[in-house]
Amino acid sequence: MKEKCGIFGIYGRGLDVARLTFFGLFALQHRGQESSGIATADGGGINCYKNVGLVTQVYTEEQMEKLKGHIAIGHNRYSTSKDTGLTHAQPVVNKNQRVALAHNGNLPSTAALEEFLKKQGRETMGMNDSELMAEAIDCHMQSGLSSAEAVKKSYALFTGAFCLTILTADALVAVRDSFGIRPLSLGRLNGGYVVASETCAFHTVGAEFIREVAPGEMIVVSDKGLFSTQIAPGKQKLDIFEFVYFSRPDSVMLGKSVYEVRRSCGMRLAKEYPVKADIVVPVPETGVPVAVGYAQASGLPLEMALVKNRYIHRTFIQPEQHSRDLGVKLKLTPLPEILRGKKVVVIDDSIVRGTTSRQIVAALFEAGAAEVHFLVSSPPVKFPDFYGIDTPNQKNLIASQKSVPEIEKYLGATSLYYLSLEGLIASTGLPKDVFNTSCFTGEYPIDLHERAKEIVYAVHDRV
Ligand code: 5GP
Ligand code: MG
Repeated sequence: MKEKCGIFGIYGRGLDVARLTFFGLFALQHRGQESSGIATADGGGINCYKNVGLVTQVYTEEQMEKLKGHIAIGHNRYSTSKDTGLTHAQPVVNKNQRVALAHNGNLPSTAALEEFLKKQGRETMGMNDSELMAEAIDCHMQSGLSSAEAVKKSYALFTGAFCLTILTADALVAVRDSFGIRPLSLGRLNGGYVVASETCAFHTVGAEFIREVAPGEMIVVSDKGLFSTQIAPGKQKLDIFEFVYFSRPDSVMLGKSVYEVRRSCGMRLAKEYPVKADIVVPVPETGVPVAVGYAQASGLPLEMALVKNRYIHRTFIQPEQHSRDLGVKLKLTPLPEILRGKKVVVIDDSIVRGTTSRQIVAALFEAGAAEVHFLVSSPPVKFPDFYGIDTPNQKNLIASQKSVPEIEKYLGATSLYYLSLEGLIASTGLPKDVFNTSCFTGEYPIDLHERAKEIVYAVHDRV
């Protein structure tokens, strides 16, 4: 199960925390469109509502009224074709309703968690990684520990990538794995506190950014105020794909504007791979800042010659080839008036399976382009992601199966160029060692345990 999700949490007496969570989740919609949920607590029990669909489809005014309290957490779930539906929606609430938990990330190994729970006599059958975590926290609360102590004690059993917002009767707890693979930030709002996957959500709810939650840090908010502790030594390894694709351009991560990093990628591309072309065309949305940078650095005119239907979601996760091909046509329309007879540099952020990119090249030629140079603002994605993106199987990653010239041929492009890893890192303005670059390099910061055997290192090394 691979997830890149959006999480949110808020603690504030006198605030309409459910409604604020709704707006926070709305700002984080890009991190997951499969399902959405909110859990609240008012000092007594936990209320939770979740359903499949977009944030605007899931909640009604009536449900909002029922989500009472001064503490709330929320979750938007992204999913692959295999694990869709309400059964996987979050927040998860543990069996005796003491702990609600929203998880962004993935635990590639849950063996230690399951073993612990079995020793405690708890049933673990059919439980996913997030449910196992909630159950472990509850186990420790059952034995008399406070919410904070229970999370701290359970933390040792969590191996993998996780940003969590946890809700109990009287506290909001936020934790980040010791590598900080997924982002999580802390903000202030009217005397209360807010945590969110991305800072773009703070702007939406009117919160003020304080700082990022540190890798390995736990933050607890209760009526006693905010309390922070370093549970495990932290070593920042943010997934560099957050800058490449996941995050919204108006978010700030590790002190860097996502928009500016993407624009720098475009400027680097222009340096690494100058093309004698007539126009630069972005693949919307994520390709836009990159193309802006390429145009600025090269002096070529920028044209929005691929128009995106704003209301299309999720073509990437259509399971079946035919409908996926159709999905691209629904999503993007080329403008023949702009493209006819032109040498085109088309820019996207990444190539994963190659399906969409191939359709885009074909569509540009069909619309009359004379040449189509496909430029990508990240290196070839060759390795599966175990920490939360939708690349479940290495053999589905085109760059793990084909060399760059073979991919160029498959796409049907006049030429193909991927930004170098050095170029990508330089564009962030940050040192290489603060990033997890595993999808490009196969170097995983976290021990993959039983999943390590799934990785093949040799196949792609042909150039
Ligand atoms: P492909 O050519 O590999 O089929 O599709 C490439 C496109 O997928 C790029 O436009 C890129 O923005 C997008 N993409 C990359 N990673 C993900 C992801 O995890 N989810 C979704 N929905 N799209 C992605
Ligand atoms: Mg895209």
